[in-house]
Amino acid sequence: MNLHEYQARELFRQAGIRMPDGEVATKPSEVEAIATRLGGGVVIKAQVHTGGRGKAGGVKLATDPREAAEHAETILGMVIKDLVVSKVLVVPAVEISSEAYVGMILDRESQRPVLMVSASGGVDIEEVAASSPEKIRRLAIDPRFGLLPHQAMELGFALYDDLRHVRAAAKIMTQLYDVFMDNGATLTEINPLVTSSEGEVLALDAKVTLDDNILERRPDLALLRDETAEATSEVEARHAGLTFIKLDGNVGCVVNGAGLAMATMDLVKYYGGEPANFLDIGGSSNPEKVVTALRIITRDPSVKAILFNIFGGITRTDDVANGIVTALQQFKVEVPIVIRLTGTNEEEAIRILSEAGMTALNGMDEAVEQVVARVKEAA
Ligand code: GDP
Ligand code: MN
Repeated sequence: MNLHEYQARELFRQAGIRMPDGEVATKPSEVEAIATRLGGGVVIKAQVHTGGRGKAGGVKLATDPREAAEHAETILGMVIKDLVVSKVLVVPAVEISSEAYVGMILDRESQRPVLMVSASGGVDIEEVAASSPEKIRRLAIDPRFGLLPHQAMELGFALYDDLRHVRAAAKIMTQLYDVFMDNGATLTEINPLVTSSEGEVLALDAKVTLDDNILERRPDLALLRDETAEATSEVEARHAGLTFIKLDGNVGCVVNGAGLAMATMDLVKYYGGEPANFLDIGGSSNPEKVVTALRIITRDPSVKAILFNIFGGITRTDDVANGIVTALQQFKVEVPIVIRLTGTNEEEAIRILSEAGMTALNGMDEAVEQVVARVKEAA
């Protein structure tokens, strides 16, 4: 689960990370009032679950409350990477001397939290990572010992020459590690970490992604979910108990079980197709889930054909067949559907489908080859 910057800042603050105070607003008039209260220049920042807000015009400096309100007018309602801005953060502007990057991720390769730092921080860190990866220092942390003081200091020296800056940065890295470990995060990031004209080291941006598995144990964190800021398809899928992840391809996939879903995606690729999504309808069978799954997938204009791959164990294939038939009665599906099902109650499933004028295949390879062919015909 992604957090908004203002929510991430709250976790950072609890850990003691230094940053300017800020307030959230939803109206230009509120922004004006906050700017008046803060006095001096302020920065107005779009609160959306994506980076690159600066480049998209979602981060703007204002010298007085009037200008702050004008910027808020522009930013509120703005669409950044398909997400509508409905909140802004207002923070006192800092005069920046240098911008660095400090981030932690959960690294699957080393199976450890990895701290990454770079003296070339700011809005172009992705470009730095791609074109000059040597400018990013990485440290895999052993969670038994945590980030040790000498390690943090060494990384601090990779960012700064001035010992006061090094010490301040080392402290912030330790605090960032604490935020990561204490909240079940998969990412905690400060970009930019700045030195101000007054010689302070401050976090000017805050990004946190939480592992969804922490939310059951931490209701306080679960409360931070803002469904209005998430992709509609993912919200709908979650409510229906589906695991859905949107991808870039054009073969819509409806599968039961995460393992089979992965295998199906592999096979789609093997036969020259590209999956449009990962979708696991889960182990239990419920026609409603199938209806929701089809509704979500058909709404995606890049989907050119849909593949059902159902291995009936606990899942009853007749329930899935009923779901497909119900969905087709409720809304129009413009793209071809290829169905492969086998297992529990398959005779019944085949009967239900054939009554509705559909056929089901038995073999997985056969079904995937067919769906890829249908996509190519559509192209
Ligand atoms: P992002 O583009 O979504 O990562 O948003 P950021 O919060 O990182 O803001 C983008 C850029 O705006 C930063 O890299 C800074 O260069 C600039 N910026 C943000 N806050 C301030 C500030 O208080 N003062 C100044 N001068 N620039 C700022
Ligand atoms: Mn940033």
